[in-house]
Amino acid sequence: MSAIQDCDPEVAAIIADEERRQVDSLEMIASENYASAAVLEATGSVFTNKYAEGYPGKRYYAGNQHSDRLETLAIERAKALFHVEHANVQPTSGAEANMAAYFAFAAPGDTIMGMELSQGGHLTHGSPVNFSGRLYNFVSYTVDRETEAIDMAAVRRIALDAKPKIIVAGATAYPRAIDFAAFGEVAKACSALLMVDMSHIAGLVAGEQHMSPAPYAGVITSTTHKTLRGPRGAMALCRSEHAEALDKAVFPGTQGGPHLHTIAGKAVAFGEAMTAGFADYARRIVENAAVLAEALSAGGLRLVSGGTDNHLILADCGSKGVSGLKAQNALGGAGIVTNRNTIPWDTRSAYVTSGLRLGTPALTSRGMGPDEMRRVAAWILRVLDDPDGEGVREAVRAEVAEFARAFPVPGITGRAPVVA
Ligand SMILES: *Cc1c(COP(=O)(O)O)cnc(C)c1O
Repeated sequence: MSAIQDCDPEVAAIIADEERRQVDSLEMIASENYASAAVLEATGSVFTNKYAEGYPGKRYYAGNQHSDRLETLAIERAKALFHVEHANVQPTSGAEANMAAYFAFAAPGDTIMGMELSQGGHLTHGSPVNFSGRLYNFVSYTVDRETEAIDMAAVRRIALDAKPKIIVAGATAYPRAIDFAAFGEVAKACSALLMVDMSHIAGLVAGEQHMSPAPYAGVITSTTHKTLRGPRGAMALCRSEHAEALDKAVFPGTQGGPHLHTIAGKAVAFGEAMTAGFADYARRIVENAAVLAEALSAGGLRLVSGGTDNHLILADCGSKGVSGLKAQNALGGAGIVTNRNTIPWDTRSAYVTSGLRLGTPALTSRGMGPDEMRRVAAWILRVLDDPDGEGVREAVRAEVAEFARAFPVPGITGRAPVVA
C-alpha cells in the first residue's frame, strides 16, 4: 500500500477505509469472500501490463513466454481441480462467461431454459434487461410451491415442451443442493446442452461439499471470487468436443485481451483450492450455514425451503413483519452486511422484497465456527425483532465490531487460518 500512500493519498485513504469496513463488519453477502494475501498479490502483479490476445502458443503479441506459462498453469490446475477435459480461464466475470457459453452453443433467437430470476436464477439467465433476455428466447422453471425446492418433474415437462437448445442449471439465491445428474437426464431427453453455472458453489464443488456437475454438463461456467475465494473473475469448462467452440466464443467472440493479472490470481486460488485445508474450509462453510439456519429458525425466522444444504440461507423476513429492504438496512446499521432478495412467489416488489440472503463463506474465511454462528444469529434476531430500534442497532454494532476485530481477515489483518 505504501506506493499508493506516497503518490496518491486520496485513493490510499479510501482503500484504508474499505479495509477497516471489511475488518469491522460481518460480511454475510453470500457471493462475497476474502481472497488470500497470495491471491491479492498475484492479482496486483506486473501481469496487468501485458497484452496477450489469443491462447498459449497462439498469441497475437510478442513477449508472451511467461504469459503462456502462467495461463497454461491456470488451465491445468482448473482441469485437475474440477475434473474436466478443457478449461478456459480468460472470462473476466461470470456474466461474460455466460455470454460466451450462449454465443458458442446457441444462435440469437434460440430457446434457452433457466431458473426463474425471482426464485434464484441469475440476471444472465434471461432477464429482460440483460443481453441474455434480449438476444435469446428464455423460458424458465420454478421451485415447487410446497417444498420451495426445484421441481424436477416440472423442469422435465417444461423442457420437453419448449425443446431448448441449452438448459441452464445453477442459481444465485438457492439454498438447496442442485441435482446435476437429474438435469443431465432432462437435457438428454430433449437433446439440449446442459450448461451448469456453478458460480456460487464452485468452492463447495472443489471441496466435495456439493455434487460435481462435471460428469453431466456439456459446459460449466463459474465465477472465481465467491466460495472459491479467488480473484474477481470467471472461467468456462467443458469436454474436449466443445473446446474449440467455447474458446472461439471467449476470444475473439466476446472478449479482447485476457486479464493476465487476474489469471495469475486464479492460478494461485486453484492451487489453494486443491489443498486438504481448502476441503476442510468448504466443509466448515456448509456446517456454519446449517448451524446459522437452525438458530435463526429457532428464533422464529422462516427460512425458504426450511433450511440449507449449501453456503447460503434465504430468510423470509415477512415472518418477522419486515421487508427485505428494511431488514437489510437495519442489519447494515448494526454492522451485519447482507442483501435483500425476492423469495419464491414474493408478494413484495423486486425493490422492496420479502427476503434476505445470508451466506457463511466470508465469515468462515475468518475462522469463525458454530459457536460464532450462534452469536451472529442472536444479533440478527435482536435487530429483526426491533428493526426501528436505534438503541438496539447501536448496541449490536458496537458488539459486532469488537467481536469481528478478533478474527483475522485474510489479506488485510493476517494470514488466513483457511488454507493451513
Ligand atoms: C455471480 C453470478 C454470476 C455473475 O458473475 P459476475 O462476475 O458478477 O458477472 C453469474 N451467474 C451466477 C449464478 C452467479 O451467482
